[in-house]
Amino acid sequence: MATEEDVSKAERLLEALNKKASVLAPRIVPKGHDDRSLEVFCKTPERQKELKELIQDFQSTRTRCVSCNDINREATHFTTFWTLHFEEKTYTLSNFKLLCDECDTLSRLDRVLSILSESPQDLDRIIQLWRHVNPKQDEEEDEDKIEEKVRVRDQFRQVYSIAYTLQMMAGQMKGWKVLDKSGDEINQKTSLTKLFESYKDKKTGKKRKEESVVMEEKKDEKSNGAKGKAKKPRNKSK
Ligand SMILES: [Zn+2]
Repeated sequence: MATEEDVSKAERLLEALNKKASVLAPRIVPKGHDDRSLEVFCKTPERQKELKELIQDFQSTRTRCVSCNDINREATHFTTFWTLHFEEKTYTLSNFKLLCDECDTLSRLDRVLSILSESPQDLDRIIQLWRHVNPKQDEEEDEDKIEEKVRVRDQFRQVYSIAYTLQMMAGQMKGWKVLDKSGDEINQKTSLTKLFESYKDKKTGKKRKEESVVMEEKKDEKSNGAKGKAKKPRNKSK
């Protein structure tokens, strides 16, 4: 059983994590809820088929990774993002996005931990991407390049170590409620079409402003009519 102290520690860590990795943080998954693309809510073949089509449809309107926005990286990973609340033990679907391979790696704690311990050759690349994706915190000043590099590496390790602690805590607590953004439970009976609709609204409405910088260049691609299923415009200008 998690004590009150554990819970408030978890909330503090979570706040720190969200501050340090404000755009793309490693995913923390409560016990029994390892969901990447809503598949766990689709036990029947009919639901699996429906989900597949909804995801294809979602992908057909977007091609670039919403996190790094890199023109050379195709966003092939449909990824769900969740908000945890340790005190209420709620796990709320906040959004879904398309990520490229590299950002997908950043979002996965186990992958990054294995890079940290086993693939030092990949570390610089992934840290650079992490820095590129997540805005700097205010107190940082580039005094010289070497110091900057050490500092970023430290921060990166810190973020994934916080995430590791949080994952341990979330993985041990039982009784999480899985909710959509309106506070309704998501389960095997949830209408997938309605779920996708409700999140789409958010994207084109309120979210549009926040993402307008990232999405700016994508607008052109969209208006070129990328509507057909699984058809993606590939006019990469180099
Ligand atoms: Zn990316």
